[in-house]
Amino acid sequence: MPGRNVVRRGEPEDSPKRFFRATISKELEARLDPEHETLLETLRVITKDRAGSIDCPVDDCPLGVTEKKISPGQGASICICPQAEVIFETDVLRAHERFEENGPSEQAFTAVRQVIEQLTLVNILRYFERTDSLGVFRDTAFIMDGPLALFGMPAWLKYHIEPEIARLHKKAQEQGDPGILLMGIEKSGQFLDHLKELDWMEKKGPGQRLPNCTALAPDIDYIHKHIVLRPLDAKPYGEATYYGRKVLYKNRAGQHSVIMTPIVNDSGRDPHCVDEAAFPRLGEALDLMDELSTHLYQDGFAPLVRAHAHAAIPLRTGARILTELFSEE
Ligand SMILES: [Zn+2]
Repeated sequence: MPGRNVVRRGEPEDSPKRFFRATISKELEARLDPEHETLLETLRVITKDRAGSIDCPVDDCPLGVTEKKISPGQGASICICPQAEVIFETDVLRAHERFEENGPSEQAFTAVRQVIEQLTLVNILRYFERTDSLGVFRDTAFIMDGPLALFGMPAWLKYHIEPEIARLHKKAQEQGDPGILLMGIEKSGQFLDHLKELDWMEKKGPGQRLPNCTALAPDIDYIHKHIVLRPLDAKPYGEATYYGRKVLYKNRAGQHSVIMTPIVNDSGRDPHCVDEAAFPRLGEALDLMDELSTHLYQDGFAPLVRAHAHAAIPLRTGARILTELFSEE
């Protein structure tokens, strides 16, 4: 992603922020595979009922907001301000609002990364629907590295991803299948810290209090009172960000993890409800935590370790990229 110090050749009016926005628009046209819809198509489909217009990114735009709402499928449009700013369809993600013209734009980059991660998941799940193979959900687990959530500027997408996953889950169930086995795994944070504290015993030390294979499903009152320290009547924690529910788990080998299962029904949507129905296919998710845990890393999980190994730039490719960069005219 372009940062503050780069503009496009041949675009005299270009600014780093405009380059950044144009890049998001271009990158989301990527396909994971020729058979898949593009990430942008996925975004369009799941947000087609979104209300509201897209703000013009020009700071002193006299209109503030484009008069015409950009609706899905339209691509880019031109604002009627004197600058005639191009409004990209993907500006709706609002990542550029955290782009700094004069400083690091970590928040903007993080926003784009999480949008791509989350849209990729939905894109893959939808692929199985489009190819009439929802039966795959029966014995395939989908594992998200991180929580089932979106934070910051694009957090609103949660309200579109949650119903889409719930829809696919229900559709699979209607075909007589058990629905989606999806789990997010948190490797740090307040919930994991809380589990480790619970498992601490005076004199004996860490990991001594809870028996192995203990799963704890905190309801919203418990979360407010003991984990995030909010008044009980505060707005439910995670309401505007999470599309899953958390379970604290100490596995068969005594390792700690926080896993999330998606919200797919009324039980899941009610943060006070900790019935089994609120956590689809939880038993199988916990089995996976037992079977695939690894001692390579503290509280490690084999699928994530392998995914990271694949995602890292391999030595040879990395060297090639550097050679190309430095031999460029
Ligand atoms: Zn404008």
